[in-house]
Amino acid sequence: MQALDEILLEKCKTAKRVVAITGAGISAESGIPTFRGKDGYWKNYRAEDLANNQAFENNPKLIWEWYQMRMAICRKAEPNPGHLAMAEMESIFPEFHLITQNVDNLHNRAGSKNITELHGNIFTSRCTKCTFKTIQESDNFTLPPLCPKCNSILRPHILWFGETYDIKVLEKCREILNAADILLIVGTSGQVTVPVYLAEEAIRAGAYSIDINPEKSSLSQKVSIHLRGYSAKILPDLIMQLTEIR
Ligand code: NAD
Ligand code: ZN
Repeated sequence: MQALDEILLEKCKTAKRVVAITGAGISAESGIPTFRGKDGYWKNYRAEDLANNQAFENNPKLIWEWYQMRMAICRKAEPNPGHLAMAEMESIFPEFHLITQNVDNLHNRAGSKNITELHGNIFTSRCTKCTFKTIQESDNFTLPPLCPKCNSILRPHILWFGETYDIKVLEKCREILNAADILLIVGTSGQVTVPVYLAEEAIRAGAYSIDINPEKSSLSQKVSIHLRGYSAKILPDLIMQLTEIR
């Protein structure tokens, strides 16, 4: 077990309100490719060229094929020790909130309860015309799937590049980030503007900030401490040392 920085442990010992922001990197060790890693390409397309409404309108079947493939990967994947550690944080700190950019459902499956899925969930689809919403229980459906109520095309219930965040969700995130004693940033490259802005809000408000990532990201130099390494290793180490001191 890697011994952690003393200041970090001291901050964790007294912290009351802790918030984590997670990105694709926390699920990498569950076998889910990140967008910007070497396995992030699909049929030579970049994620940004697929996860947007224009691409969906041009070719819904192609976009659905990509989602169907990703759904199957997410369904087969298992939460890793990093996800389990995140769920455990809820019983270590008086207040713990998880904000994830991930859509893979692994935090829910690991047992996290106090969670905001900023970009949606890959297993939920919604109608492009009416209010119908459904959970896809299997990955084996005809493409593109149609709404049982109005026969329009369904789309993944995911926030695509260029789409607007739910303002109420953002306000709630800002509120908890502003009050945070500690901010944990895990496995994000910091290239999606809104999550970066949210992280910066907590840093500006004075939270002690920890970035866990094997690489340097755009956030690594803005945080109090960058723990260089894999989240499935560092987070369980952190939990072990926290349970000794709290
Ligand atoms: P990203 O792909 O841009 O970056 C991933 C980051 O994780 C990189 O900085 C990388 O160095 C780091 N990383 C890789 N392995 C790691 C590990 N084992 N431990 C810790 N960090 C590790 O991901 P992003 O910043 O989340 O942005 C991509 C967008 O795509 C997000 O909006 C997200 O919704 C979506 N996305 C989600 C999933 C998912 O649900 N699992 C997967 C791919 C993309
Ligand atoms: Zn409909």
